[in-house]
Amino acid sequence: MHCPFCRHPDSRVIDSRTADDGLSIRRRRQCPECGRRFTTTETASLTVIKRSGVVEPFSREKVMSGVRKACQGRPVTEADLAVLAQQVEESVRSSGIAQFDANEIGLAILPHLRELDEVAYLRFASVYQAFESLADFDAAIAELRAHPGGGSDSDASDSRADARTPEE
Ligand SMILES: [Zn+2]
Repeated sequence: MHCPFCRHPDSRVIDSRTADDGLSIRRRRQCPECGRRFTTTETASLTVIKRSGVVEPFSREKVMSGVRKACQGRPVTEADLAVLAQQVEESVRSSGIAQFDANEIGLAILPHLRELDEVAYLRFASVYQAFESLADFDAAIAELRAHPGGGSDSDASDSRADARTPEE
């Protein structure tokens, strides 16, 4: 690793610490040439294979933009999306696997989105799991009812999603 100050091609590690989230290691380094110190962060690489076969680095921003569409008109903030993307990254990293199908990322998103907003969860699931009929929605809603969670006691939102009226 080159010294960022004088470009000396070597540096000495003087301290290593795992970041609070456990996902990266920060190393404090010192240049033997100019004596200045700098920090590097080391993270395991995490890649996603898209349906097209293209491999790209995992991106929280991609997770957020995928979920953002499902959250339109819902009380979900950008900060909520950022937290969700971080949770998704943590859960995929904690599996210890370094490469995922886009599908598996979708699967990792679902439980976190469900905790955040059940309506957005249904929308996302309907696209991701390719719901084809109302029966698919009914099954997903029945599942939500059978296993309520996510801290919200109110089931008003899912009964609204269920009772579709022609004038809406
Ligand atoms: Zn230097």
